[in-house]
Amino acid sequence: MSETAEVVIIGGGIVGSSVAWHLTYAGCRDVLVLERESQQGLGSTGKSMGGVRAQFATAVNIRMSLYSIPIFAAFEEITGRPSEYKSHGYMFVATAPRHLDYLRRNFELQTALGLKQVEMLSREEIIHRVPQLRSDDILGGSFCATDGFVDPYSVMKGFMASAEEHGARLRRNVTVTGIDTDSRGVAGVRTTNGSISARTVVNAAGPWAAEIARMAGVDLPIEPLRRMLVPTEPFPGLPDRLPMVIDMSTGFHFRPEGLGLLMAWNDPDETPGFKTSFDPAFIEKILTHAVNRVPCFEDLQVNPHRAWAGLYAMTPDHHAIIGPAPEVPGLFFANGFSGHGVMHSPATGRITADLILHRSSGLLDARDLGLPRFAEGRLLEETAVL
Ligand SMILES: Cc1cc2nc3c(=O)[nH]c(=O)nc-3n(C[C@H](O)[C@H](O)[C@H](O)COP(=O)(O)OP(=O)(O)OC[C@H]3O[C@@H](n4cnc5c(N)ncnc54)[C@H](O)[C@@H]3O)c2cc1C
Repeated sequence: MSETAEVVIIGGGIVGSSVAWHLTYAGCRDVLVLERESQQGLGSTGKSMGGVRAQFATAVNIRMSLYSIPIFAAFEEITGRPSEYKSHGYMFVATAPRHLDYLRRNFELQTALGLKQVEMLSREEIIHRVPQLRSDDILGGSFCATDGFVDPYSVMKGFMASAEEHGARLRRNVTVTGIDTDSRGVAGVRTTNGSISARTVVNAAGPWAAEIARMAGVDLPIEPLRRMLVPTEPFPGLPDRLPMVIDMSTGFHFRPEGLGLLMAWNDPDETPGFKTSFDPAFIEKILTHAVNRVPCFEDLQVNPHRAWAGLYAMTPDHHAIIGPAPEVPGLFFANGFSGHGVMHSPATGRITADLILHRSSGLLDARDLGLPRFAEGRLLEETAVL
């Protein structure tokens, strides 16, 4: 195979698919997506909890969500496919004054940036929304009605199918093994199926992004970190339209999934590495936090064989790295989402397409997300990583 493309995208997960869609939507149709697996979604995208929220602490994350959530809401109109967006909201529950202060500060920033649906909640309002919560220590919280969940697989497939209708090509079973450069910058990629010439290459390789960057001699500060999810058997009696509920005292959170729940918790003992097997010992840990906040969860039924693990792609400041590689013209990063790559996939596609086609983005000042911020000490601190 000896081919050319205007833009090659490495990785056919939700981010690569969104970049492909945004490029074709902007009129750049000669886009080739390379995916090493036999099907899309076998990386982090297929393992995700599908949560989407605008309740963040930094302007850049809030702005990315303010672009992304309306795309999920209008996805069928835009791409002709469903996103399964469910606007059940995210409800943060604070039991410590510092957490409540944090939510209030975030609320001020979110509303100043134009988020209209976020509200602070009293203890009583929280109990009213989810009466099953143990509430003796609850001080208050926040809720945003446009937060919720999507089906990551549907969004990924929808973006890609619509991009293909507009000229993009997806190649599966093709592994990128090298990036070629010349005096002008990127010249193409080497793959298990031969070389492809391209002056623009996008790294959308999820947790494997650092490996791709190394092929061009770039050190990308991204580490894989295992993340485990536990679905439950059907559990009746909870409110209709149950939101994502986050117990800020432990980080335990849950949302409805089918007739049961999907539960998550950020285990502080987890260490970086490409570990993707589910550890059965996690179930007892997460159930302890679950029952502590929701006493009736003592009756939850969990089948360890249905639980799974996947990888977050973590950066030192828990924000994505989006933009050009400073020393390799033509190479772009769309990486390091630190657990937010599904919800921020639309904004990432838009920013990346803007930078490729126009060198700047109308959505936000993309320099904030660029790789040089680490060397220049301009880190962005987001303290609420779920
Ligand atoms: C358990 C869990 C829960 C999560 N929950 C949420 C959530 O609620 N909300 C949210 O927004 N995010 C969540 N995330 C994070 C989210 O899933 C990721 O940020 C997102 O899926 C990243 O998408 P991606 O396309 O960058 O990566 P991926 O989906 O991993 O895609 C990368 C692709 O690149 C391919 N690839 C890698 N190397 C090569 C190569 N050399 N050649 C060709 N192809 C290659 C891989 O096969 C893969 O398909 C969660 C993640 C996990 C693991």
